[in-house]
Amino acid sequence: MLMGYTSPTLTANGILTAWRHSGARTSGMVEKNLPTQLTEQMVRMPFYNTFFSSTTMPAVELSQTLAELTPDGLNHVFYASSGSEANDTIVRMVRHYWNTLGKPGKKTFISREYAYHGSTMAAASLGGMDGMHRQADLLLPGFTHVMPPYHYVYGEGLSPEEFGLVAARAVENRIIALGAENVAAFIGEPVMGAGGVIIPPQTYWPEIQRICREHDILLIVDEVICGFGRTGSWFGSDSFGIKPDLMPVAKGLTSGYLPLSAVVLHDHIVDVLRHGGEFQHGFTYSGHPVSTAVAIANIEIIRKENLVDKVHGKTGPYLARKLAPLRDHPIVGEIRHLGMFGAIELLPDKMTRALFQPVGEVGAMGRNNCYAEGLIMRPVRDSLVFSPPLIITPAQIDEMVDKLERAFDATWSQLQAR
Ligand code: PMP
Repeated sequence: MLMGYTSPTLTANGILTAWRHSGARTSGMVEKNLPTQLTEQMVRMPFYNTFFSSTTMPAVELSQTLAELTPDGLNHVFYASSGSEANDTIVRMVRHYWNTLGKPGKKTFISREYAYHGSTMAAASLGGMDGMHRQADLLLPGFTHVMPPYHYVYGEGLSPEEFGLVAARAVENRIIALGAENVAAFIGEPVMGAGGVIIPPQTYWPEIQRICREHDILLIVDEVICGFGRTGSWFGSDSFGIKPDLMPVAKGLTSGYLPLSAVVLHDHIVDVLRHGGEFQHGFTYSGHPVSTAVAIANIEIIRKENLVDKVHGKTGPYLARKLAPLRDHPIVGEIRHLGMFGAIELLPDKMTRALFQPVGEVGAMGRNNCYAEGLIMRPVRDSLVFSPPLIITPAQIDEMVDKLERAFDATWSQLQAR
């Protein structure tokens, strides 16, 4: 029985519609630590599935929380276990949506080069990673990619604001070339993470939003990395004023303690899906009660410790101040960051912005020098990307930047010695 809630409804197979919480929290878990909450859930109800109008209490409670936290109108949740599954689910949902609306021609998804949306066949087709496409005869039919909003590399001669409009209009031009009657959706990460922490100019997302609305294209905002405080807001969508139709989330949803992902859907999508019969889709572990209990506990901690505000008002700006002097380092081209993630682009010559050849070698060298300092960084081409825990302290930021500087000195010396 679902105590503490008014009549829950499952609108379609596994899609939970959030409803009003009628009183005291059901779990009473708030004051306990996360491992205790996990263990309690394992004992109370270790597993049940969310097929055939079934669900479990933690999945219900988490849906309510997600509806509260996500942008207006996103009130319905479908659970999976990974970002890839969430994005595969979205491909099926979006095609089913247009079929149900009687517009079966609207099939193609537009994405960006360097995008990452996962490793399954459909998610890798949504992604813009050439290497992945080559290994599995991708793309699947119905996927296409345009220029990313990567000002430093593609925006020569244009201000960031001008380039933001140019990059957004690459989407519009593709819609026009394909015919809007053939385009289902545009997908983008608010900040492109795995592609090198590419932060779009402020003009980009408002223009993308205008284009999607004008051409009747759904807007999917992949918050798998950006969600839950990473950008200094609850969601990257909040940082950029985006109003998504569908939003996949994962990673920060449980802070990685257990696997869990979700697709959060706008009312107007579910209103259509309701007419399409039972949604014939789902995974055994969709809405797993232990994972969803852990997500509830995780979000409680983020709220209680004010981590989103801390990143926005304190540690994010502190990181920005500490990183700024590294711009003068001879191999540092650009430093990009928002909230608590970023990238440092290594270049042989900041004036010409020419790239190191072969691309990727110096990035790996820089990463190895970071490792030697005891600092974990990831190379993406010749950028070093970082995504520290949201609980990082100013003293730890000092340590991180000191280590980075020494690693860049070592990389510079190695390059001079060649
Ligand atoms: N979307 C984005 C934006 C991601 O960064 C990732 C993973 N890095 C995924 C989707 C795929 O998530 P998973 O690895 O959990 O399948």
